[in-house]
Amino acid sequence: MEELEPPSVIMAALATLSPPRLTDLSHSIFSEVHQHRRRLTFILSSPTLFSLTLRHLNSLSLSHKSLLLARFLLSALRRLSRPFQSPSKLLPYHPSTAAISPQDLDAAVLLLLLCEVRQHNPAALRTPITKWRATLCRIYSESLLTISGLATGGGGALIPYIDTVVRCWKFVGFVGSCGGKVRREVAASPMAVVELPSVAVGGGGGTVECVICKEEMGEGRDACKLPCDHLFHWLCILPWLRKRNTCPCCRFQLPTDDVFGEIQRLWEILFKVGSTMCTSDGDE
Ligand SMILES: [Zn+2]
Ligand SMILES: [Zn+2]
Repeated sequence: MEELEPPSVIMAALATLSPPRLTDLSHSIFSEVHQHRRRLTFILSSPTLFSLTLRHLNSLSLSHKSLLLARFLLSALRRLSRPFQSPSKLLPYHPSTAAISPQDLDAAVLLLLLCEVRQHNPAALRTPITKWRATLCRIYSESLLTISGLATGGGGALIPYIDTVVRCWKFVGFVGSCGGKVRREVAASPMAVVELPSVAVGGGGGTVECVICKEEMGEGRDACKLPCDHLFHWLCILPWLRKRNTCPCCRFQLPTDDVFGEIQRLWEILFKVGSTMCTSDGDE
């Protein structure tokens, strides 16, 4: 099977949405894109803010930069995967994984612009660093004109948004794990674990076995119910979720506080919908 590229998977997944849901998503994307553009315009138009942001960016190690863009990618994947998660299984947002300070957000939008320029117009950055602001200003306003020329309503923000997602993706080095072949084990987010409901076992007749300890759960006793509806003894599931964020029965994934683990989880949700669409197209 040919390798599915992230943009095609995302577009295929979005194509399954009903028009109202797609409109909602486009609006939320548009407002985020608008906010980032406004921030970037602000940075580029102020020599002081530009040099502060550039200095902050230069002070970051490569792994810190990569974490910055990973957070950026994570917030985009949260937005893009949200319509595909059934409301009952959708756990509340855990801002700790996506929280970006204003200073880091500035650094991230500038870093993304630099990556974009380096990709399309590498010669532009071979000028002395003191000329960068003027150069970036010019390139940025030209690109804005192109984008607004193409833009028709909220939908015009979608393609540049997906381009940005892919740019973050490449920077973070997350390529090649599209099918989720290699997955690191990450702990479930303690916030998500705290929110798991306790339910009384039984009522429907028949016995329920806890697959972790292989023992039956006493009728009427409290058990932990995961969002996939599988039941476990609390004493069995808690240590399990401290090491992994997956259900022992069906591998349903709970949110995690690990940024890369969370990217993987949300990407798999999108990939499941998108890749089915891509493959069924090819079957005709
Ligand atoms: Zn058990
Ligand atoms: Zn399960």
